[in-house]
Amino acid sequence: MDRKPELRRVVRKKNEMVYGPVLSRRFGSSLGINVNFGGGKTCSFDCVYCQYGRTVHLVSSASEYANWERVEPILKAVETQLRRLNMEDRELNSITFSGNGESTLYPYIQEALRGVKKLRNKYYPGVQVGILTNSSMIDCERVFEALMEFDSIVAKLDVGSQETFVGINRPAKRIQSLNEIVNNLIRLQEATDRVTLQTLIFKSTDPCTQPDNAGLEEIKLIAEKACLIDPKEIQIYTVSRHPSESFVEPIKAYYLRETASRINNLIDKKRAFLYL
Ligand code: SF4
Repeated sequence: MDRKPELRRVVRKKNEMVYGPVLSRRFGSSLGINVNFGGGKTCSFDCVYCQYGRTVHLVSSASEYANWERVEPILKAVETQLRRLNMEDRELNSITFSGNGESTLYPYIQEALRGVKKLRNKYYPGVQVGILTNSSMIDCERVFEALMEFDSIVAKLDVGSQETFVGINRPAKRIQSLNEIVNNLIRLQEATDRVTLQTLIFKSTDPCTQPDNAGLEEIKLIAEKACLIDPKEIQIYTVSRHPSESFVEPIKAYYLRETASRINNLIDKKRAFLYL
């Protein structure tokens, strides 16, 4: 019998400013910074596979949400953790802005990053400070400027057409089209050469009414867009935690492997790697 894979629950407390270090599939031992803690998930997307459930505040810009935390308490929490880890001689591979929502919506992201980098230099010099972003805010100049200062940028691209973008990522009303987002990613990669794409592939239990992105045509469209962006790497993975919508299911490792190799063939470069 074909058994359904076990999905993990999210262990992170949603109101923590700093969490971990967690052993990440992609970043090693990583200290997470959540600038969207408290008040429910604030995001410009409401992805069907999101591990944090439905988006509470679905917004297109920072100004549509009023309860942003100041930078100082966040930096204080980061320093407390870094000092403790340093005193305990713990290994740390990265510090990552990755929260319960979209980090680049945070209006003080650049100030927060600069503060974190100073703390990194003091306690863990050389460790990369990165960000996971859903790529939707890059057109905003303050976000572009801030992203330029991150050591690594891991940006979401898991759809290849406007139709699946709307069906899977479920963006807020005033978010740009997928093609515009891709153009922003091209510009960011040209300016930094530090963009990695993160591409989550899943299947739908009811593909006639609920979209997924595991089909051959969608993978081809994703590969075409990835080719234009020319990222450092494309991280291919699947759902490993309980998704927002019950029709979302992880795909099998062998199909994930095939997907990565298909993308590499289509773009004629070995950029897609599995993160199981
Ligand atoms: S962009 Fe990330 S946090 Fe926002 S809904 Fe999608 S998966 Fe969840």
